[in-house]
Amino acid sequence: MIKKNDTVQIMVGKDLGKQGKVLSVDSPNNRVVVQGVNVFKKHQRPKKQGEKGEVVSVSRSINASNVMLVCNSCGKPVRAGYRYDGDAKIRYCKKCKSLL
Ligand SMILES: [Zn+2]
Repeated sequence: MIKKNDTVQIMVGKDLGKQGKVLSVDSPNNRVVVQGVNVFKKHQRPKKQGEKGEVVSVSRSINASNVMLVCNSCGKPVRAGYRYDGDAKIRYCKKCKSLL
C-alpha cells in the first residue's frame, strides 16, 4: 500500500525509472500523484488583456500498480512486507527488512 510522502519508482511508460515523492493518493481509484512524474504543461490563458499567458506544469495521477515503493535503506524499488506488532501493522522492506 502506497502512502502520501512515500518515495516511489515508476516501472512503466515514459517516466520509467524515475523516482519521486508521492504527493497524493486516491485509494478508491488506485491512483497516485508523484512529484515530477507524468507532468503536463498547461497553458493558462491571460486573465486580463495585456497580460501574458502562463505555462504551468501539472503532475497528473498515474495508476498505483505502475509504481514500486523505494526503500530508504537499500535505495531500491522493493516489495513491501507486512507484519503485526501487537495491533500495529508494520510495513517493511522484503530485501533488507528495515521498516518502510
Ligand atoms: Zn530495503
